[in-house]
Amino acid sequence: MPVDVATIMLMYPVVSLSMAAAMLVVAWGRWRDDGLAPWAAGVLMIAVAFPLFIANSLLSNQLPALMVVGNTLLAASYSASLVAICRFFGRPCSLWKILVPVVAAVVGSLVLMDRPEARVAAGGALFSLHGGMVAREALRRDNGVLERGRLLLALGVGMVIALYLQRSIGVLLGWNEVAHLGSSHFIQVGSHVMGLAGLVLTTMGFILMGRERANARHQQQALLDPLTGVPNRRALMDALERALAQAGRERRPVALLMVDIDWFKRVNDTYGHLAGDAVLVAVAQCLRGALRGQDFIGRYGGEEFLALLPGTDASGARMVAEHLRTRVEHLAMPWASETIRVTVSIGGHARIPDDAAGAQAMVDVADQAMYAAKRAGRNCVELLNVPLPQAAADSAVSV
Ligand code: GH3
Ligand code: MG
Ligand code: MG
Repeated sequence: MPVDVATIMLMYPVVSLSMAAAMLVVAWGRWRDDGLAPWAAGVLMIAVAFPLFIANSLLSNQLPALMVVGNTLLAASYSASLVAICRFFGRPCSLWKILVPVVAAVVGSLVLMDRPEARVAAGGALFSLHGGMVAREALRRDNGVLERGRLLLALGVGMVIALYLQRSIGVLLGWNEVAHLGSSHFIQVGSHVMGLAGLVLTTMGFILMGRERANARHQQQALLDPLTGVPNRRALMDALERALAQAGRERRPVALLMVDIDWFKRVNDTYGHLAGDAVLVAVAQCLRGALRGQDFIGRYGGEEFLALLPGTDASGARMVAEHLRTRVEHLAMPWASETIRVTVSIGGHARIPDDAAGAQAMVDVADQAMYAAKRAGRNCVELLNVPLPQAAADSAVSV
């Protein structure tokens, strides 16, 4: 079946217009988000550039000015991709990276206006370099984990670079038909197919990058308490289950501390709910700052926090708990013209995990120890040393 090059070329504006339209619809009203707008603008430039190339090809290279404009748009579209990637990662994009390739495309196309072969060779070199800059910006190490979207984008850019190198090398090898975009030379057809595939892959990769980042954000948010910013109960229980499994394997102790703010309802009643919220935030930060790197603190519920201390036995847990208690006791929180002070009651439990030591059973014991601390007068620490799961025993044993 003969290949109709004109139809393949027509696919460029069709594909790029559809993709740009889809991206603009998604980005509408959220122009500052994720660089979608500059990326869509770049795709639109491709949609405009290719009809110019097609027109020049139909006119048998009689109107090389069309190539000058087309090449400029092509270079500008890669610069727009650079801007989009920089914006996505929230860093500035140096002006030279944006402008120099575009200026080079204009000057090169003008100088080589009447020498199509030389123009293809030079343009191929310039665009593959420009593509390399886009790939480099996308693959930078400081962008964080190399997710699939970024890999897809890099693959697409790689195809575009291969396309341009192939055209440059083709011309240098004397396959001058390559200089005529409408020719059905296999290199020409191959480069159109690769160009289309590269266009789709890079754009899909860029959209996927945004989706992956949104997913990661949602996952993170699902595990954080929105008020205090510390892990929520779900994250706590996950961490506790992991810590218990690991400590069980290593036969090492794990300690749990339930920290409850004393008379917190009075704070709300006296200073208002907003003040209560501010106290929760301050106490959460204070607890987090007072713990060691390997420890884990989260908000278990209302005014209750849970600290998970891997590798800590009962005496270590008591020391940490006392440290937390005094840190909160000395916390002065300015509110309006007053200073709010609170204390905490801490209940703890430490053990080497065994089959009976499920996460919830451990939390229940720490909770009971905390109530023992409340009964003991508040602003104090109690550790329960009872076997699981009969932890309901009301004996608080100081360790
Ligand atoms: P105790 O010393 O016995 O622990 O007394 P308490 O007042 O601290 O305990 P109680 O359980 O009676 O009250 C807890 C209060 O915490 C009631 C609830 O309105 C408040 N609370 C729970 N979550 C929040 C929150 O997100 N913000 C604010 N401001 N208050 C909260
Ligand atoms: Mg309380
Ligand atoms: Mg409570």
